[in-house]
Amino acid sequence: MSPPKRILILPGDGIGPEVSSIARELLSLVDQKYSLDLEISEGLIGGIAYEETGDPLPQETLDKAKISEAIFLGAVGGPKWDQLSPDKRPEKGLLGIRSEFDFFANLRPAILSKELVSASTLKEEKVSGLDLLIVRELTGGIYFGEPRGIIEGSEALNTMRYSKTEIERIGRVAFEAAQKRDGKLCSVDKANVLEVGVFWRDVISELSKEYPEVELTHMLVDNAAMQLVREPKQFDVVVTGNLFGDILSDIAAMLTGSIGMLPSASLNGSSKGLYEPVHGSAPDIAGKDMANPLGSILSVAMMMRYTFHEEEVAIAIESSVESVLASGKRTQDIAMETNSVIGTKEMGREVLAKMESLK
Ligand code: NAD
Repeated sequence: MSPPKRILILPGDGIGPEVSSIARELLSLVDQKYSLDLEISEGLIGGIAYEETGDPLPQETLDKAKISEAIFLGAVGGPKWDQLSPDKRPEKGLLGIRSEFDFFANLRPAILSKELVSASTLKEEKVSGLDLLIVRELTGGIYFGEPRGIIEGSEALNTMRYSKTEIERIGRVAFEAAQKRDGKLCSVDKANVLEVGVFWRDVISELSKEYPEVELTHMLVDNAAMQLVREPKQFDVVVTGNLFGDILSDIAAMLTGSIGMLPSASLNGSSKGLYEPVHGSAPDIAGKDMANPLGSILSVAMMMRYTFHEEEVAIAIESSVESVLASGKRTQDIAMETNSVIGTKEMGREVLAKMESLK
């Protein structure tokens, strides 16, 4: 008998526990319905972990994460901990877990539900049917390059550095994602100014020989930012470095309406993954049963797809979300005048009921 599939849930702070409890219920449901043999445990991270143990990423959490194939994280942070030193701040827990397990590939889909077209800031014809995936390199580039620092208060520097190995491994994730989608990959760099951009372009072009069925294009990052708001549907998969990916994925996120809707996955070379909604801990609505849990629910769908290769389960979750939105039920962040506004728990119950009713 194969061992159970271990999943660690880290609820964190603010609305984190509210959305994580729905993710947990959903995982229990899919476990039973599809006989997945999941083993689910919970751990501490962020501000709550600091309160209880003095460390935003306690060793016990790391130990549990080590033996888990997938980690779900709610959100960390809040005003209560803003004055702490950087090594104690809740965000240290998140950055720590990303680097500890070398989650170098950040996958951020920007899919606009047809039910939410009017919530986008762009015109309907520009965004309707939007479905793009940004693959961002997460553990290298200028956020980590050495040397770095502020020199005697007179100047400051950071270093943008990428090795061939780092570019190749993120490139492979992107080419493979494009193979499973519409077969188009756009690599974004700044090759007209930066040597690292020229190198990035060369390595990705060389790698493309292994994926002849994927149509590769290159784009400069300034143009890519413009094209994302001008004609976003021209993109299928976009691959880019850490800094450019940070900015472009937020632009793409806004095309879809609400931050509460967006899932993400961060993967390492094996299929181990960290799955989290894109939003933060939203202290302004925490504890009020107002948070949109759909970003978390869709993160569970990504977990099924990328760690457990359960495409059927992923699609079932995504189509259940779509049906609930089609029924007109919305949390306050995505509600329009004609919708009935429901809370976090009820939205969770609606999606779970839809899942249960599927054959
Ligand atoms: P935020 O994403 O928490 O909130 C921004 C706005 O979006 C708020 O008005 C909030 O109410 C709303 N919002 C967020 N998620 C929502 C949801 N699921 N449903 C409905 N509305 C939602 O960003 P912020 O206010 O800049 O940051 C708050 C805290 O979260 C800070 O401490 C920050 O450091 C932390 N943060 C954590 C993460 C993470 O854990 N991955 C990411 C970003 C920010």
